[in-house]
Amino acid sequence: MSATITDLKEMTAYMHEKLLGLVPEFEIARKAEVAVEINKLKKEKNAIILGHNYMEPALYHTVADVTGDSLELCRKAASTDADILVFCGVEFMAETAKIINPSKKVLIPSTKAGCSLASSITAEDVRNLKKKYPGVPVVTYINSYADVKAETDVCCTSGNAAKIVAALNTDTVIFIPDEYLAQNVARETGKKVIFPDFKSKKDESLDKVFVSWHGKCEVHEQFTVEDVSRIRAQFPDVVVLAHPECSPEVTAASDFTGSTSAMINYVKKNKAPNYLLLTECAMGDNIIAENKDANILRLCSIRCPHMNQITLEDTLAALKEDKYEVQVPEEIRVRAKRSIDRMLEMS
Ligand code: SF4
Repeated sequence: MSATITDLKEMTAYMHEKLLGLVPEFEIARKAEVAVEINKLKKEKNAIILGHNYMEPALYHTVADVTGDSLELCRKAASTDADILVFCGVEFMAETAKIINPSKKVLIPSTKAGCSLASSITAEDVRNLKKKYPGVPVVTYINSYADVKAETDVCCTSGNAAKIVAALNTDTVIFIPDEYLAQNVARETGKKVIFPDFKSKKDESLDKVFVSWHGKCEVHEQFTVEDVSRIRAQFPDVVVLAHPECSPEVTAASDFTGSTSAMINYVKKNKAPNYLLLTECAMGDNIIAENKDANILRLCSIRCPHMNQITLEDTLAALKEDKYEVQVPEEIRVRAKRSIDRMLEMS
């Protein structure tokens, strides 16, 4: 496994085989040195690296002991014997790892890895929603901060959201904060989406309704139906894979909608000549490294500025200096964990 390689020659040969064409040759030479240093330090410090599917290929394929979407990474983190978890992903993901593993030291290589979706809603917003809609269960997308999760009945991911809502066995839920995920799941489960109007005193119909929030992912909201049409015109046999954080119009124009890991599995299992990935561009590189025959089209002018904060070099610095440690106040952690545990039980 590449994440255990500590010999420079071996790492360079491995990276050549896996990443040539995706990472320039001169960069491979430089990054191989950093990767080897990281793998040695992990051994010394009993640390592991959790690498989100959106990480740059030179990090994802060389030092990550576990790769996947945010939920998979946290699940795997819960069963590790390591003392230190370095989370190569964004802040809300590292927080989730800490919520599940309070006794471990959780590090994130950059303090600038935020998320437009997670920061679209506060714990106070959720308390106000609960006041306006008393008794309505709160389902919160895992892309949220710990204090918001602490106000939540059950978390969900893009992969299990429909299942969680169905298991709640209620006509109405507060489904936050991603308005597009809400619309995509509402369509799948026969519900409609409304947004709270805190000034209105009128009685609203809450029949088969998702009360949602105007949160959006700044990456996925940029993909358009026109993008899909243009690619289809150039590649008539293309299979379009969309993330459910894309607009409902875009997911309707696509061939498959699923989480990042569901997209990766789709490409592994199906043998289409051309795919268009409507998600963060780096994931396309990571899929190409594993599926050299597939032509993976991606729209790389649209990038996540937060995920791109995490580099191989910063990961080395994080391990060397034990920075930046993720902390979650215990009172919030305990309540946030309840909403995550409930999701794990229900999915
Ligand atoms: S891709 Fe979107 S949801 Fe994911 S971290 Fe970036 S802004 Fe947040």
